[in-house]
Amino acid sequence: MAHSTAHMKSFESLSLSAKLKEVIKDLGYQTMTPIQEQSLPYLLEGRDLIGQSKTGSGKTAAFTIPVLEKLDRENSDFQRAPKLETLILCPTRELCMQVAREIRKLGKKHIGLQVLPLTGGQPLGPQMFALDKGVHIAVGTPGRVLDLLSKRALDLRGIKTLILDEADRMLDMGFQDEMEEILRDLPDNRHTVLFSATFPPSIDFLSQKYQKDAIRITINDENAPLPNITQQAYEVLPSEGETYEFTDRLKVLLFCLGELSPEACMIFVNFKADAVELSRELTHFGVSAGALHGDLEQPERDSIMAKFRNQSIRVLVATDVAARGIDVESMDAVINFELPQKSDVYVHRIGRTGRAGKSGVAISLYLPHQKIKLETIEKFTNVPIERIEGIDLSDSDLSEIARKLKLEAKMVTLYLSVGRKNKMRPGDILGALTGEAGGLEAKDIGKIEIQDFFSFVAVSKGVAKRALQSLRDGRIKGRKVRVEYAR
Ligand code: ADP
Ligand code: MG
Repeated sequence: MAHSTAHMKSFESLSLSAKLKEVIKDLGYQTMTPIQEQSLPYLLEGRDLIGQSKTGSGKTAAFTIPVLEKLDRENSDFQRAPKLETLILCPTRELCMQVAREIRKLGKKHIGLQVLPLTGGQPLGPQMFALDKGVHIAVGTPGRVLDLLSKRALDLRGIKTLILDEADRMLDMGFQDEMEEILRDLPDNRHTVLFSATFPPSIDFLSQKYQKDAIRITINDENAPLPNITQQAYEVLPSEGETYEFTDRLKVLLFCLGELSPEACMIFVNFKADAVELSRELTHFGVSAGALHGDLEQPERDSIMAKFRNQSIRVLVATDVAARGIDVESMDAVINFELPQKSDVYVHRIGRTGRAGKSGVAISLYLPHQKIKLETIEKFTNVPIERIEGIDLSDSDLSEIARKLKLEAKMVTLYLSVGRKNKMRPGDILGALTGEAGGLEAKDIGKIEIQDFFSFVAVSKGVAKRALQSLRDGRIKGRKVRVEYAR
C-alpha cells in the first residue's frame, strides 16, 4: 500500500460490527489506507462524498464497508428477501468483476449476501433471472444497466446508495449520458458516492448536479513513488546499422529477466501491437508470458488475468489502458519496455510493485536520446533512478541471452464450464481433484477462481494431464462438467 507508516489508524478506531472487523483482520488489512481513513467516517454516517486517490489505494473497501454495515444495521434479516439497495457503476466489465470480488471478500460473514455483476458481453437472460430472484448489491457498467432498465428487468426505486467508481474513466469512455439517465431514475433520498482518480471539471459538474452537500477528499500522494521500490534504468544501445530497435530492447529485457528471475512481473509497452509481439517473442524464448491489451475479447482477458493471478503466467505484457485498475497482488518487478509518454503514467506503472510492505524493482529501458525523458521523470518524482549504462549485448544473439532464463510457470490453468451460478464452490472442485475421486494431492492444486458461469483452477504442471482427465471422467457435485486447458 502506498503510504507512510507513521501515524496510520487501524480499523479498530471505527465503530464497525464485530463480524466485519473479523473479516478485515482475516484479510490482513492492518491499517486503513489514507483514503479509507479520511472517507470512512463520513461514509459510515451516510454522507455524500467525492473522493480522489490513486489506483491501488483501497477505494473499493472504502465504499464497500459502509454498504455492508448499512445492510446489517437497517435490515437484520437481509438474507431472507434480498432487495436491491446498492448500485455501483464501474467503467468496464473487468472492474465490475473486481469490485464484486472485493465485496464478496469483505461480505464473507454476511451469510446470504447476493452480489451481482451486470455487464455486457454476457447474455441478458441469467442476469435478469438473478435480478428477479433478488440481490442486495449490483455492480454494473452504465451500458448494461440501461439495457436492463429498458427491459424493465431492473428496478432502481429501492436504491439507497449509488456509487460511481472510477467516475473520470466512465466520463472518458463517453458514458456521461448513460450515467445521467441512470441518476435521474434513482430515488432522491439516496446517498451518492463518487470515486475518481482525477477531478476534471466534468466530475465537478456531476457532483454539483447529483450530490447533496458532498464531502470532498483528495489524497495528494500522486507524485510520490512507493518508498520500497528500487528504480533502475537500463540503457539500450542500438546495434550498428540497426534501425529497428525492438530487438535491441528485447536483448536488454531478456538480460534483465535473467538477472531478476521474477515470480510475477509486468512489462509495460506503449502500443497494443508491441504487447502482442513482445509476448510472442518471450514465449518463443521460454518465458511464460501473456499479453493484455485493448483488443482482447472479454473471455480472453478473463483467462489471461486468471492465469496471471494463479501463477500460470509469470510475465504479463500490458498496455497502460488495458492494465488500468486491474487487481493483482504486489509483483516482484515492473519493467518499462519503453518509457511512457508522461511522468504520472510512470508512477502509476511502477506502483504495481512494492505494495503491501513488500519490496519491488522497477526497471526502465531507454535509448541514449531518451535521457532527457528519464530526467523529467526524476524531477517529477523527486527520486533518483539508478542508471545502468554500457551493457553491450551486440555480440550476443537473443537465444544466447535467453538460454540462462528460468521463467517457466509452475502452474497450468484448467477451465471448467460451471461457476457460482451453478452453486459451485472452491471446495467442490478441490474435492473432485483430491481424495479418492481425483487422486491428486492438495499441494498440487493452486488458486481456484469461481466466476458466475465458469471457473479457473490452477494445478501443478506435472499433474495437469491427470487433473484434466480425472475431472473429465468424474463428476463435480454429481454433474458432468466441460473441462479444458484455459486458452
Ligand atoms: P483502488 O480502487 O483504490 O484502485 P482497490 O480497492 O482495488 O484500490 O485496492 C487495492 C488492493 O488493496 C486490493 O487488493 C485490496 O484488497 C487491498 N486493500 C484495500 N484496503 C487495504 C488495507 N487497508 N490494507 C491492506 N490492503 C488493502
Ligand atoms: Mg478501484
